[in-house]
Amino acid sequence: MTTFDAIIIGAGQAGPPLAGRLTAAGMTVAFVERHLFGGTCVNTGCMPTKTLVASAYAAHLARRASDYGVVLGSPPQIDMPKVKARADAVSASSRTSIEQWLRNMNGCTVFKRHARFESAHVVRVDEQQLTAPRIFINVGGRALVPEMPGVGEVPFLTNTSILALDQVPKHLIVIGGSYVGLEFGQMYRRFGADVTIVEKAPRLIAREDEDVSEEVRRIFEREGIAVRTDATCIALAKHDQGVAVSVDCTHGPPQNVGSHVLLAVGRRPNTDDLGLDKAGVATDPRGYITVNDDLSTNVPGIWALGDCNGRGAFTHTAYNDFEIVAANLLDGEHRSLRDRVPAYALYVDPPLGRVGMTDEQARASGRKLLIGKRPMSRVGRAIEKGETQGFMKVIADAATKKILGAAILGTGGDEAIHGVLDIINAGVTYDVLQRAVPIHPTVSELIPTLLSEMTPAE
Ligand SMILES: Cc1cc2nc3c(=O)[nH]c(=O)nc-3n(C[C@H](O)[C@H](O)[C@H](O)COP(=O)(O)OP(=O)(O)OC[C@H]3O[C@@H](n4cnc5c(N)ncnc54)[C@H](O)[C@@H]3O)c2cc1C
Repeated sequence: MTTFDAIIIGAGQAGPPLAGRLTAAGMTVAFVERHLFGGTCVNTGCMPTKTLVASAYAAHLARRASDYGVVLGSPPQIDMPKVKARADAVSASSRTSIEQWLRNMNGCTVFKRHARFESAHVVRVDEQQLTAPRIFINVGGRALVPEMPGVGEVPFLTNTSILALDQVPKHLIVIGGSYVGLEFGQMYRRFGADVTIVEKAPRLIAREDEDVSEEVRRIFEREGIAVRTDATCIALAKHDQGVAVSVDCTHGPPQNVGSHVLLAVGRRPNTDDLGLDKAGVATDPRGYITVNDDLSTNVPGIWALGDCNGRGAFTHTAYNDFEIVAANLLDGEHRSLRDRVPAYALYVDPPLGRVGMTDEQARASGRKLLIGKRPMSRVGRAIEKGETQGFMKVIADAATKKILGAAILGTGGDEAIHGVLDIINAGVTYDVLQRAVPIHPTVSELIPTLLSEMTPAE
């Protein structure tokens, strides 16, 4: 049995920086990672997908070149091995630097193995037993493979295996019309595939407001992506030309045949093979580790950070978990998940930047609301760029003058949303933003205008 001051399981977004802080404070750390350093974001999530999205955007702009008065000799071709190599290189560079950082960190011992609890404070790594008074779980999640009929009988792709493709599928059927499915769907359409998105809910990204879902659908359909919503009873079967996906929709044909199928129906936490029962760590029915607002579990001395606690599903939320834990343990602070303002982006093009409540949530809260909405076709910067799809929307509490939420679905929306996010985090009223002098021409400059145009919600 080897004793450390702390054990960290999983080199995702929270574990490595936490190791940095703990060792800098003089602690010895055992760091256990079973596969790829950097976890989902670096290897199979944000980094490769956003690199591919950039290639897809380049292809899209090249096809639209004549709109800008740019003459290309011939239609653009996709060199998929090169597209893939670019994404691989971006991931590899980050992965290598994280691994080297941990291996060279004074006080940190790296184990490239699977970790499993034997008891509340003993972790087995192969033949070795490690013990520490503090254990931090940062094991993340993986693609959920649903138990839909035929799933065991046909080949399918997940967000991980699709990254190994170095050719463009003839027809990609994406099952799941939410964040992951939409990003891959649009990207592969722009690479030249026929794409069908199959979603069992009545609309895409059903967690967003209806106007957001509808606009994303319009954007996709304009690019020639087929969208099949209300697709209940989805079933997969072998077919001469690939995979047949049966859908029981109210509209459209009952079957779609694709060369490839991507399952993008959600994630599940990597907690089923961690021995949590031996440690007595409580999980919810879906396997997410139950944590308090300071990320501590029900077992003293064990914390769970990142996607595996079900309190966030993003790189920035996992990193913020690290910041909360480090501040409380090492800086004498009392930080909490309650202080976090929800924010995220969907990297379709144009992107969706989101912060705080949706329109629907704000209405359900019973507050008197002010709402401002403006199409991107009335945003100078978008007109100049020739990218006028989408809209921006802000919702405020009429009584307190605080912004409750916003959505910017439009060019630069993933960046421009931060103006609103900062105002919410600062805890000030929206007129502070109204009095600011933004830079022209930007998408952000329209936010103060939007705030001046808000009207009471019906
Ligand atoms: C396709 C896709 C695109 C995404 N795009 C974005 C985006 O644009 N922006 C964003 O904010 N988020 C995005 N995400 C989500 C983001 O990737 C995750 O929220 C983030 O990676 C979570 O980090 P984490 O630290 O919780 O765990 P992870 O990054 O999942 O890391 C967990 C690590 O733990 C290791 N591990 C697991 N079990 C064990 C064990 N028993 N022993 C040892 N090691 C173990 C794993 O090998 C892994 O390396 C995306 C996700 C996907 C799937």
